[in-house]
Amino acid sequence: MKIGITSTIPVEVVFASGHTPCDLNNIFISAPDPEHFVRQAEDAGFPRTTCAWIKGIYGVLLEEEIDTIIIVSGGDCSNSIALGEVLSHDGKRIIPFSYPLKPDVAEMEIAIAKLIRDLGATSDKVADCKRQLDPIRQKLTELDRLTWHDNLVSGAENLLQLVSSSDFNGNPGLFSTNLDEFITQAVKRQPRNHKIRLGIAGVPPIISNLFEVIEELGAAVVFNEVPRQFSLPWGPQSTIAEQYTRYTYPYQVERRLDDIATICAERQIDGLIHYTQTFCFRQIEDILFKRKLDIPVLSLEADQPGPVDGRTLTRIETFIEMLQ
Ligand code: SF4
Repeated sequence: MKIGITSTIPVEVVFASGHTPCDLNNIFISAPDPEHFVRQAEDAGFPRTTCAWIKGIYGVLLEEEIDTIIIVSGGDCSNSIALGEVLSHDGKRIIPFSYPLKPDVAEMEIAIAKLIRDLGATSDKVADCKRQLDPIRQKLTELDRLTWHDNLVSGAENLLQLVSSSDFNGNPGLFSTNLDEFITQAVKRQPRNHKIRLGIAGVPPIISNLFEVIEELGAAVVFNEVPRQFSLPWGPQSTIAEQYTRYTYPYQVERRLDDIATICAERQIDGLIHYTQTFCFRQIEDILFKRKLDIPVLSLEADQPGPVDGRTLTRIETFIEMLQ
């Protein structure tokens, strides 16, 4: 059975239960016409002032035959919780997964044990799945290194591969084979040579051509913060609970900022784009990005799926010129 997920969760548990995880965000944004999912949600009553990711997920579920959805009820946002309530009323089975309030291994073990029970998996099978996914996660870390260190992989390619690690496209074996092929081809390329190195922090941008626009202006994206977090890039920890406790996204922004500052220094990043979704509470966190990070930060937001608008283009141009 396909199980929909709305954010990164311990996906090893879904595989261990014999089901196939399906990241609904990826279906939404990779559709030829993602706007129509948003329109469908608005037709169903979702307010215009709701984040487009939430509406997109709801629109996807109106079309896809997915009856069970794991909703992150702690560590994501209140919109997700309300989405789960509407879906439950629509007849879907909702399984809540809550990240602990603070990053604590013992509490993470309890949260994962509950998910194991809810999905009918076993701890042994979860450990087996973790052993299968760990090498794939390490390959993604190598792909990330080929992006920032060897300059062989573009920011858009980096994002696409890393975001897919939320569900491994439902088929880790095939994902691993395709990743091997991608890396084999990438190492044969000539290194890219951009003068300005950028990072993008925040949820994956809903803007369809952001990376192309940045490259045309002479800069390269060598760090995708949240997609990198999805891949759990810190090497295999001894337990799954330890692995997910290091995931920064569900916790206080200060912890994310420490990670971002470390990576920006390591990757010699000239400037950071902090992307936030229109109507998302994370726009408030932008204050702390500006206060705490020691590199230039450009705050960008977008509402609907689609290309870069004129005002945003001017702001990106000015930012890159300033960095140059
Ligand atoms: S972008 Fe913000 S509001 Fe939208 S689902 Fe993510 S956390 Fe919630």
